This record gives sequence, structure tokens and C-alpha cells, in this order.
Amino acid sequence: MRKLIKALSLMSIAVLSTPSVAHADEASKTDGPPFVVHRLTDFLYAIGEPSYYQKNYSYLIVGERKALMFDAGANQKENITEVAKKITDKPLSVLPSHLHFDHLGGLHNFQSVYLVDTPFTRKFKVKDDLYQVPEPVYLGNFDHMVVPPFKVTRLVKPQEIIDLGGLQVRLLSVPGHTQDEVALYDEAHNILLAGDHLYPSWLLAGNLKDYVSSLNATLKVINPQTAIYGAHADEDPSKVPAMTYADVVAIRDKMLQIQAGRAKGESFSDPELIKSSELYKVHKDISILTNIRFTDGRGFGY
Ligand SMILES: [Zn+2]
Repeated sequence: MRKLIKALSLMSIAVLSTPSVAHADEASKTDGPPFVVHRLTDFLYAIGEPSYYQKNYSYLIVGERKALMFDAGANQKENITEVAKKITDKPLSVLPSHLHFDHLGGLHNFQSVYLVDTPFTRKFKVKDDLYQVPEPVYLGNFDHMVVPPFKVTRLVKPQEIIDLGGLQVRLLSVPGHTQDEVALYDEAHNILLAGDHLYPSWLLAGNLKDYVSSLNATLKVINPQTAIYGAHADEDPSKVPAMTYADVVAIRDKMLQIQAGRAKGESFSDPELIKSSELYKVHKDISILTNIRFTDGRGFGY
């Protein structure tokens, strides 16, 4: 989840002038194809949703034996696996970067679902291999979305390698946005798929201490040559959300300043959704939001 506040505050303005525009889910019904594919390498594809207000990007990794989607897309109505099947005929699985609604929209289309195995995610197991994500974790009520229970075919531990045949990615646990946030690192090709851990826009910090620790760990894994791709675009939704090593350092440094009480933030609120929050600008379109409390009284974070 990202830029919820900005998007919804823009929509609340739209409500005043255009009574037909009411909800975030209606805002997703803009013109243009639901999915746009960008070929990043001969084995890695970014699948963007530029007409969805949160500008999500999911990634398809194609090995010699298997294919893996990192995130299921936000769109519940169009089938993202049809897009993947046009690219590869390898057996397809999906691994969500975390359990927010905008990363699970297409989950029901997948026969095979991977999930990070941590004490936090284990709490959502209802029976056998069936998992149910509760609303305080899912946050789908903002888009009037629900996620039915889903079957998990493989649990992946932090630091475990997922072998797709001739292509391996390591699962990194990177809590901070949420407790369950993960990233995938392909060491051989020096590529980091970062989910909501890193993207070039408004980053929502659920736990600043964890976020800083995860960024420090990420900085030990990546280097200035690493290609880093996040799960949400910046202002231009047609552009794949790529980040640089310097961006990661700048975000980490800003979070350290926030922790030390040395960063200058501004109060941010929105009558529709956000009772209170703090907004800190980093650089480019990148900002950090902390201490978010929704108007329904819920706090974002853990
Ligand atoms: Zn999120």
C-alpha cells in the first residue's frame, strides 16, 4: 500500500466537483489496459497497473523449470495470470511481497501460492494449508475489497533460496512497512525486487526501528550496481519503479534522522482518511510517512 493519503485526498476534491466519483475502486476504472508489460531482461518482466490509483507493479521471473510472480497485482477482476501465460508456459507460482490488499488482488487466479514463513504469517493459518488474512492486516476495506481464504503450497523461510531452474532468488525478510514484508534478491544478476520495502514514492513506515534495521541489512546485500525495482511507480505510472543505491542510502539516513528527532517533518492529515501523520521529504518523489492514524481510530503500524 502506498500514497493512499495523497490519492484519497485528491479524490475527496473530486467528490466535491463530480458527485459520480466516490470511491477508490471507482477511481481504478480509468481508461487504458489493466496491465502493461515491461521486459526488463530475458527472464524478468515488470507488470504495471498504470490505470490503478496506487500504480502497482508486480514482477514475473522466468526460470528454466518454473516461473514466479512477485505480487499478484491489485486488480481482482482481470486475470493477471493470463498476462503471465502470454510470456511463459512454465508452471507459475506467486509470492506476495506482503499481505496488503493491493498486492493480493489477483491471488485467487494462482494455483500455487508461496508465503514467507514467520511467526507473524503463521498466525493466519486457519487449517491445513489454508490461510486467512484478517482485515487489520489486509486493509482492503479502503477499496471495498475482501480476500477469501487461500491455500499456501509452499512456505519460504527468510534467507531461503527459491530455485526456478538456472535462476535463483533469495527471500529477504525486510520488516518496516509491515511485519511480513519481503524482498527477493537475485545475486547472480544483481537484481533486487523490493516490494513495498523500497519504491520511489511515499513510503509508509509501520515501524521505523524495524525499517532502519531492514534498510541496513539491504545495504549489506546490494551495491551501487544493483538494479532495484519496487512495487509502486512514482508520479509517472508508465515508468517501471526503479531505485538507485543512493536512494536507499538517502531513505535510511532520513529515517535515522527521524528516529533521532533531527528531521524536519510536516503534519499531514486528510478529513476523509488520515487523522494525523508526519510527512518527511527525502528527495525526488520519495517521502516517508510515519505515525499514521486513520480517521476510524486505527493506527497504521505495529
Ligand atoms: Zn503495502
